[in-house]
Amino acid sequence: MIEEFNNRILLIDDNEAIHNDFKKALTENPELDYVEIQNLEKALTGKTDKKTDNLSFPKYEIHSAYQGKEALEIVVDALNKGLPYALAFVDIRMPPGWDGIETIEKIWGVDKNIQTVICTAHSDYSWEEIYRRLGHSDRLLILKKPFDLIEIRLLALNLTKKWILNAQAKLKEEDLQEMVTQKTKELSFSLSLTEATLESTADGIIVIDKKNKIVNFNRKFLEIWDISEEQLEQDDALKLSNFMSKKLEMPKSISLDSHKMIEEKNFDIYQDLKLKTNKFIEQYIKLQYHNQKIVGIVYNFRDITHRKRLEEELAKQATYDNLTGLPNRILLADRIQHAILLAKRNKTYLAILFIDLNSFKLINDSFGHHIGDELLKIFSHRLKNSLRESDTVGRMNNNVVTDTVSRLGGDEFVVVLTTPNKDKDSILPAIQRLNEELIQPYHLASHELTVTLSMGISFFPEDGFDPITLIKNADSAMYRAKELKQTFFEFYQKEMSEKTLARLELENDLRQALVKKELFLNYQPLFDLNKKRIASLEVLMRWAHPTLGLIPPTTFIPLAESSNMIGPISDWLLRTACSQNKAWQDQGLPPIPISVNVSVTQFKYKNFVENLEQILTESGLEPKYLELEFTENIIMSDNMDTTLKMEKLKKLGVAIDIDDFGTGYSSLNYINQFPIDKIKIDRSFINSLSNNEESKTIVQAIMMIAKSLNMCVVAEGVETISQLNILRAISMDEVQGFYLSLPLSVEDTTKILNKNWEWPISS
Ligand code: C2E
Ligand code: CA
Ligand code: CA
Repeated sequence: MIEEFNNRILLIDDNEAIHNDFKKALTENPELDYVEIQNLEKALTGKTDKKTDNLSFPKYEIHSAYQGKEALEIVVDALNKGLPYALAFVDIRMPPGWDGIETIEKIWGVDKNIQTVICTAHSDYSWEEIYRRLGHSDRLLILKKPFDLIEIRLLALNLTKKWILNAQAKLKEEDLQEMVTQKTKELSFSLSLTEATLESTADGIIVIDKKNKIVNFNRKFLEIWDISEEQLEQDDALKLSNFMSKKLEMPKSISLDSHKMIEEKNFDIYQDLKLKTNKFIEQYIKLQYHNQKIVGIVYNFRDITHRKRLEEELAKQATYDNLTGLPNRILLADRIQHAILLAKRNKTYLAILFIDLNSFKLINDSFGHHIGDELLKIFSHRLKNSLRESDTVGRMNNNVVTDTVSRLGGDEFVVVLTTPNKDKDSILPAIQRLNEELIQPYHLASHELTVTLSMGISFFPEDGFDPITLIKNADSAMYRAKELKQTFFEFYQKEMSEKTLARLELENDLRQALVKKELFLNYQPLFDLNKKRIASLEVLMRWAHPTLGLIPPTTFIPLAESSNMIGPISDWLLRTACSQNKAWQDQGLPPIPISVNVSVTQFKYKNFVENLEQILTESGLEPKYLELEFTENIIMSDNMDTTLKMEKLKKLGVAIDIDDFGTGYSSLNYINQFPIDKIKIDRSFINSLSNNEESKTIVQAIMMIAKSLNMCVVAEGVETISQLNILRAISMDEVQGFYLSLPLSVEDTTKILNKNWEWPISS
């Protein structure tokens, strides 16, 4: 805190009389002279003290010392008390002790602020001498004897004021200094923070300014690119860029030329780079701004090799059959789709051959799976090779070409042939030849085995326009071949799909079922593994047939679809389920969503969404408590209608789940084109979890991708504790299955909801 005044003055003189003179000058009758001083000051400086109206002269606190040493002690004492002197008048000669100059030296040694006036009558020391010994200082003035009263007053007044001003200035300087120190500290902290952040990220980062100079980089950058620090010493980004691009499989895919980047607006984009070493790096480029001006570019690199490998593995596992290495059903759908496009363009035709080994089960059972597997491998080998041969034959022979040989699983294979000939019989030579090749004996571990096969054939465009229909029709033709046992193959014929009598009867019964109230619903809980409670309930339809007993939905739902009853039945189901869920909520039970299975046929109804919306309104159930389960095929029927309806559903607030994931013809590539909330991994993958590493890899890979798309993942069909444990270990979101709960009646569901969502498993 700065004093307003410092009016303490120290007189240092060996002569008592001088002390009295000074005291008189500074205290006695000062009013009158103060006016003089003011006038004088005005004359000298052009300014007057602001307090001109208040004409009282300052009251000085005056102390005396008679020797230099004594004076020093008084000064030190005053400093210690925090009451320093503003001014000292010092006599130049003070025998026997220090003279004035020495005294001042000593006093300045302890007090850096004290103003001093040296009083001299003699020519003991010249001014030059004084300045030589004390140096030029703005704290020193010389007063010549004899003293003038006004001069003393003027000195006292001005020098005490000067002391205050000096002190204030100094404090300001200290403030400033303090501020600078603080700012420097802050800055170095934020710098170190930036540095630490830069080093702690998993990304390799390099910053390049607009002149293509390297401004900053982190260790990870060097590591990812395998670059030594010395290489960056030149800070030349273009040189570095050259060096880096040499490491790439496609050298042109990288440029650190900030100039060019800014010009071409080449930033805010992700790009995958592949190194010659097979490493994958994701590159992200961002502009660096300072005061709203572009000052450089930040290049971000992330090693994504691991992720890429998993994706590749998944893609391979998801699209190729492990045993034979042939494309599986997923890839097959793609290939057929592709073949259809080509056929349309080239005005050619396709034949889809569905091939099944007769009594393969017998071979498996009699010789073991090992022999069965070997047989399938050789079989698929022959299939591929003979088709290549028949290609050649085919080329001479109406140009039959194969695009694809695929294994659907088990002992089922599909072959796609392209033919320029509309005449079905034109492919006969090719398939005859194929058959001959395939029924040659198989030599396996000292056994000689022979097989026969059944083949069904459908044609594009005559028997279908899409992969699913074409495969399905070739399949039913194959069944007919098996049944009729006339030849090894049958062409698809429309009549084949005609319903059997039994089927017709059942269909009739189903029409009555709604009216007779034979349909009812079960609810199967899905459990949230994190929260250890029920996440939702899946609605499953049941039919209690009066004579045949409980008919499984897998039987009656396809029937309902083909006989146009799926509409009214699903309406009834939706109404019942939504009202039931609302009723549970009204009873004060914890609100949870129900999920309802939606068949493709049902979804295709024109006003599907509007109808659903109305049912929701009528039941009073909030849309967020309803989820719809679709199979993958819905996604594959990729058309405007599907997309539009999905968007409408999303807008309505209903969640969308993909059911039986992994069994259909879709792939994860398609999934992200739709607003999907949940993926239910089919129970076939869960089934084999405990004894098949591959299943685990696939499940994990599906999870990884689904999670990266923000989707919830459910494992279906959990039947054992060991499956559950594996799923827990790999952080599955939700589980459903007999191990946790069977599908339950309304009464039993109410009971478990009443139990406050209790986790059914003790651990
Ligand atoms: P989904 O959608 O996959 O339904 C799950 C099926 O798996 C149910 O069979 C359920 O009982 C069964 N499940 C549940 N946990 C396990 C388990 O741990 N192990 C085994 N092996 N199975 C388990 P459900 O009720 O027989 O239904 C079969 C299929 O019929 C359903 O498969 C669904 O596609 C269809 N479905 C059932 N209800 C309806 C419905 O209301 N509408 C439509 N469109 N389809 C329905
Ligand atoms: Ca389902
Ligand atoms: Ca399912």
